[in-house]
Amino acid sequence: MLIDIHTHNNSEDADIAIINQFAYDVKPVAENQQYSCGIHPWFIQEDKVYIWLKQIEELCQEKKIVAIGECGLDKNIKNLEFQKIVFKDQIRLSEQYRLPVIVHSVKTHHIVSEIRNSSLAKQPWIIHGYNGSLETAQQFVKQNIFISFGENLIKHPDKFQKLLSCLDLDFLLLETDDSEISIADVYRQAAKNLSMDMGLLEKRIEANFNSVFG
Ligand SMILES: [Zn+2]
Repeated sequence: MLIDIHTHNNSEDADIAIINQFAYDVKPVAENQQYSCGIHPWFIQEDKVYIWLKQIEELCQEKKIVAIGECGLDKNIKNLEFQKIVFKDQIRLSEQYRLPVIVHSVKTHHIVSEIRNSSLAKQPWIIHGYNGSLETAQQFVKQNIFISFGENLIKHPDKFQKLLSCLDLDFLLLETDDSEISIADVYRQAAKNLSMDMGLLEKRIEANFNSVFG
């Protein structure tokens, strides 16, 4: 079974895919699909945020989404202080409705880690499209934060060789995000990096998925 934890497409070869919805543009949902919805730091508009949060809350109440996000922090975007407020609002929804959070973090891993501590959040978080160091990944794992890898595994296989082989595999997830690659290719590359049989990798990821969403 192939599980795509975060995609902006249909991820057709995935058996389960969590399709991202942006809060500013929620599309009609299909019965047989799973969705997440969040306010992405790139698209924050101060005058719209509270309308969007309300909309996300309604999706939580109607059980239309299985996760909050993607949401989070991005140091390349200027309004970091306001991003933190909006991220924390979404963390509150995650805790209230017991849904995991799919986290976008660019050059802000230390802040995400601090917010995890200070918010006392209990729901699992997933750092999606992980591109940081092994040390930071290990710090996240200690905080019950899962690590999801996507096309970077294929683009930079050498960089992730050591990281993957040292990572606690109980926290590993895979995704296609907005790339053109297939989730099967991401699995194949991860299996290669880990020198692991595909079937075994599929079982490990499925177990991790169940521990987050079960
Ligand atoms: Zn994304």
